[in-house]
Amino acid sequence: MRILITAGPTREFIDPVRFISNSSTGFFGYEIAKAAVERGHKVTLISGPTFLAAPRGAKLVPVITALEMRAAVNRFFISSDCLIMSAAVADYRPADPSGKKIKKTKSTLSIRLKKNPDILLEMGKRKGKRILAGFALETEDLIANAKEKLKKKNLDFIVAAPLYGKNDPFGDKKARFVIIDRWDNVENTVCGKEKLSNIIIDKAEKMRYS
Ligand code: C5P
Repeated sequence: MRILITAGPTREFIDPVRFISNSSTGFFGYEIAKAAVERGHKVTLISGPTFLAAPRGAKLVPVITALEMRAAVNRFFISSDCLIMSAAVADYRPADPSGKKIKKTKSTLSIRLKKNPDILLEMGKRKGKRILAGFALETEDLIANAKEKLKKKNLDFIVAAPLYGKNDPFGDKKARFVIIDRWDNVENTVCGKEKLSNIIIDKAEKMRYS
């Protein structure tokens, strides 16, 4: 398959030197790209800023903002058989970014935010025969919220991780993940990201060829 994978955070600029972002390292998306290459797929990895080396054999497309990521996903989606959207896209961006560095003259400063497009939701609307996978980190009602996202975004499967109890889905420690597909199959697993990446590629292959 020609697999398109997104990874990492996006940066949303307040002025030329400051931005809003999140703590995504991109590690998971890069692991998925590595697993996909190892299994013989043609991989394009669209990545927000990370400190990671490009996985060997994958085409790396660097982006910075959510709007750049959306443009890159749009460009490569047409020629892809599968999209795995693991990037932590910022949900909002500053509505009126300053062209100049903001001076620290005021004692309070407000930044008005504007909603970013939901890239996965947009791709779900023109999915065709492609396999679409998304991610959901939830602080409550894991299964119900993940199922709702799966439906709303027209996904084939979603990888959900609870952000409560003792579960810590960040980094490469073992953690609990639940994979839910469009036929309501629910698969529970406790594993690290390398194993989970292989499970995800397995699932994409099975859904593509079933
Ligand atoms: O709705 P929520 O942000 O929890 O959904 C997470 C999924 O949607 C992830 O797969 C993420 O990459 C994707 N997403 C997106 N564009 C956004 C926000 C999230 O594609 N603006």
